[in-house]
Amino acid sequence: MFWDSYNETMDRASLEEHQVELLHKTVETAAHSAYYSELFKKERITPDSIKTMDDLRRIPFVTKDTLREEYPYGFLATSKENIVRLHSSSGTTGRPTVIFHTMNDINEWTGLLARCMYMVGVRPKDVFQNMMGYGLFTGGIGFHYGAERLGTLVIPAGPGNTTRQIMLMKEFETTVIHIIPSYALYFIKTLEEMNIDPNRDLHIKIGFLGAEPHSEATRRRIEKGLGIDAYNSYGLSEMCGPGVAFECQEKQGMHVWEDSYILEVIDPETMEPVKDGEEGELVFTALKREGMPILRYRTRDLAVVYPEPCACGRTHRRISRIKGRADDMIILKGVNMYPIQIEKTLMAISEVGSNFQIILDRKDDNDHMIIKVEVSNDVFQGDLKQLQRLRERIAKNLNSEILVTPEIELVEPNSLPRSEGKAVRVIDNRDQWGN
Ligand code: ADP
Ligand code: ZN
Repeated sequence: MFWDSYNETMDRASLEEHQVELLHKTVETAAHSAYYSELFKKERITPDSIKTMDDLRRIPFVTKDTLREEYPYGFLATSKENIVRLHSSSGTTGRPTVIFHTMNDINEWTGLLARCMYMVGVRPKDVFQNMMGYGLFTGGIGFHYGAERLGTLVIPAGPGNTTRQIMLMKEFETTVIHIIPSYALYFIKTLEEMNIDPNRDLHIKIGFLGAEPHSEATRRRIEKGLGIDAYNSYGLSEMCGPGVAFECQEKQGMHVWEDSYILEVIDPETMEPVKDGEEGELVFTALKREGMPILRYRTRDLAVVYPEPCACGRTHRRISRIKGRADDMIILKGVNMYPIQIEKTLMAISEVGSNFQIILDRKDDNDHMIIKVEVSNDVFQGDLKQLQRLRERIAKNLNSEILVTPEIELVEPNSLPRSEGKAVRVIDNRDQWGN
C-alpha cells in the first residue's frame, strides 16, 4: 500500500525531528541566495540559530509580491549551471512568478508524485492519460514524471481535443486520468452527447482532480459520470507544483507530505497561527529544495487542518478541500462569499449542466449578481413553466448558502466561455463604476 512506508508512516516525533534537521539544512542553502543572505543578516538569523520548529517563526513570510520583487534570480540559491528547468505559476492572480529547479529538485518532486499515485492504487500495469496542461504550468509535467517513475505507460495527451482524448482512451485502454475538474465536467457531457457509456466503453477507474477549487458535489458528479474513484490533488508552483498534498483512499482530506514541507496555518489578518480545526491560510516551507528554497510561503489558500491520525496509517497531517484563495472572496451587498459555495450548490442540482459563470455588476447603485447556468438541451427546450420553477429552485438553494438571492439566467449547453486551464468563474464589472 505504501510507496515509501518509512517516510509515509514515520511516527510524529521522528517526523518533526526530521523536519527540524531539514529546516536547518534549508536555511543553510537559502543563505546562498541574494534575498536570504540580506534578510538573514538583517534579522540576525544563522543556520545554527534555527534549532526548533518555534525558531522557524523568526523568519519573515514570503508572498507572491516578494517573489515578484525578486524576479528573476533573487531567490536562486545555486549557480545557474546547476539549474535544469524553470516553471512558472499560471498567473491566476497577476504577473506569474518563476521557479528554478536543480536535477535533485526534480527528482524529489517526481518521487512525491509517484508516492501520491501509488497511494491510491496506481500500479505499473496501468495506463495513465495526462489530460492536464503541459508547458510552464507544473500540473502536466509534474504528474508525467511521477507516473513514469512509478512505471505506468504515460499518454501525454494534454488538455482539450475531447474526441482525440476518447480515441486514445479506447485504443490504449486508459485506466488512470489526471484532469482539471471544470474540464472533467465538460468531458462527461461530451461523452453523453456521443452516447459513450464509460462503464461499458472505457476502462478508466482512477482520476486525479487538481489545480482549482472544487466541491464534494463536483467530485461525486465526476465519479458518477466517469465511473471512477476521483482523488483531490493540491499543489502550487512555488512549492514545486502538484504533490504537496493528496488524498488517500479514505477520501477524508489530503495528506500534506510533511517530510518535504512544513505546514503552518495562519489567520490571514493577524498572521498568528490558528488552532487545529480552524480555517486559515496555508503557509508552506519547502524542506528539500536546492535551487530555490522558499521559507514560509503564504499561499492565500484557505483550508482547515485535520490533525487526527488517518485510518490509512499515514502519519502526515491532512487538510480539507481548499475553500478558495483569500483573493477569491466576493463581497456582495456587504455579504462575504466564495465561488466554491455557488459551485457546490449548483453541482448538487441534477438539471444543472457542466458550466456556469458569476457576473457582478452595479444596478441602481446596488451590487447585483447574475449567475448564468448551463442546462441540458432537453431542459432548455422543455416546458417554460418548468424552466421557471428550476430558476426559482436554484435561486432558493443559493440563497440558503450565500444569503443573497442572485438573478439566475439559464443558458444552452456550451454557450458559456470555457478555458483549457483553470476555469474563470467570476467576472466583476463593478470596478468600472468606481468601486
Ligand atoms: P497560480 O497561483 O498562478 O494559479 P499555480 O499553477 O501554481 O499558479 O496554481 C496553484 C494554485 O492553484 C494553488 O495555490 C491553489 O490556489 C490552486 N489549487 C491547486 N490545486 C488545488 C486543489 N486541489 N484545490 C483547490 N485549489 C487548488
Ligand atoms: Zn490517509
